[in-house]
Amino acid sequence: MIDRQTRKRLLKTVANRVIACADELTDLDRAIGDGDHGANMRRGFEAVLAAVDDLSAKSFGESLKGVGTTLVMKVGGASGPLYGTLFLSLGKSLADEVDREQVVDAFVAAIEAVKARGKSDIGQKTMLDVLYPVLGVLRESGEDLPARLKTVARLAAESTIPMKAIRGRASFLGERSIGHMDPGARSAALMVDAVVDVMEGFA
Ligand code: ADP
Ligand code: MG
Repeated sequence: MIDRQTRKRLLKTVANRVIACADELTDLDRAIGDGDHGANMRRGFEAVLAAVDDLSAKSFGESLKGVGTTLVMKVGGASGPLYGTLFLSLGKSLADEVDREQVVDAFVAAIEAVKARGKSDIGQKTMLDVLYPVLGVLRESGEDLPARLKTVARLAAESTIPMKAIRGRASFLGERSIGHMDPGARSAALMVDAVVDVMEGFA
């Protein structure tokens, strides 16, 4: 059951983690983009924090949609509409009572929505290269799911280092995008890590 207190903790923890890592995201984006991913994400999640009481007062689905709308309005860049789409889609699928299978279905739909919005796919050095492997682990039931989710998020973000960017601003660099972690992959991994910590009761 994702009650109001859990919703609030989830939103606050995700927002605070992203904000705390804004400089790191900016450095990653400076290497293969225009150096604004950290500032973009900080602006978006500061707006989420400012509205956290109102957002978490709503049902889980509505609060996720509210996060999506806030990110679309505040983040800007390519990542704003894409993360906005992700949260809006998750909000459409998820209710206060959730089990793993519902989260899997919601994640499938959300990844499809991001792909459609970004005209992008797996292997193009984007946030999708974290979201998709995380979905893969979510599909597997069994013990130590939290630890496996955190590990896959980290490794998947690292797996973008040798990739050549095919979508987004980094694709302008062609071969020179190789050798750097994708900033959106890193921000996606940060969010997965934060969600898992809250669901495990560590945050
Ligand atoms: P911008 O590229 O407009 O400056 P940001 O720096 O905020 O926007 O976000 C860049 C991140 O957005 C990239 O690292 C990548 O993960 C993600 N991204 C960009 N374009 C796409 C796309 N078409 N599909 C999926 N993700 C994308
Ligand atoms: Mg950028």
